[in-house]
Amino acid sequence: MQVKEIKCKSILNKSKLADYCINSYVGCEHACVYCYSKYYIKKYTQHKEEWGSFVDIKINSPEILRREVLKRKKGSVFLSSLTDPYQPLEKKYELTRKCLEILQRNNFSVCIQTKSSLVLRDLDLLKKFKNCEVGFTITTLNEKIRKEFEPFSSPVEEKLEALRILKENGIKTYVFFGPVLPFLSDQKLEEFFEKLSDLADYFFIDKLNLKPGIWEKIEKVLENYPGLKEKWKKIFFGRSDYYKILKEKIEKICKEKKLNYIFCY
Ligand code: SF4
Repeated sequence: MQVKEIKCKSILNKSKLADYCINSYVGCEHACVYCYSKYYIKKYTQHKEEWGSFVDIKINSPEILRREVLKRKKGSVFLSSLTDPYQPLEKKYELTRKCLEILQRNNFSVCIQTKSSLVLRDLDLLKKFKNCEVGFTITTLNEKIRKEFEPFSSPVEEKLEALRILKENGIKTYVFFGPVLPFLSDQKLEEFFEKLSDLADYFFIDKLNLKPGIWEKIEKVLENYPGLKEKWKKIFFGRSDYYKILKEKIEKICKEKKLNYIFCY
């Protein structure tokens, strides 16, 4: 892992996901096979390395944020849109924690999305916000599949436990069920929503977005599953109503279980 400390000029950026977003890291140690964050980072062209093999640390992000919150209109902040705010390096650098402290003191609301139970470290702080929600990305309850597609994220059981603790402490939670991996994530849909129904206030569901270069990484993982590559090719390179049918199935389950859900596609 190549880790570099850099300085940023701004940190509170406009976002489509909330009023603002904060990305204190460029790159992500979680190294999810399907991640397409790099396509939204102009400076990525400077990195010849594979996504997941480098992280630039915006070491001055709390300092910049301290100035920016005084000039900007109060609003909601999403952490993070192009990286995981609780990837392992956060344990050492505490940039997410420091930024959260500033946002809390200045009455901003936050939405955190992560794949790491490290978020629990900041529970004391999260509880101080008037408006705070935490979402966990969970693409599967199968630990073997999780490891293949999101190798350095928290194990499934750890994520579920973290959601339980957050809920018990009065934090609003959601599960981002995405990307749904055909014939892998969707094998036990009923069980998936049943198990998570008490842990999440609502669900987002998204399909897989194959940006250039992603398929080459994914097909290597699919080799572990005989016949699956061909089935995926039909969905992503042919004509397929796979995600339409999936939507109908999930809608039926969520309605039956009276769960709140939002499709991102
Ligand atoms: S956790 Fe998010 S940002 Fe990090 S590699 Fe995975 S998908 Fe990309």
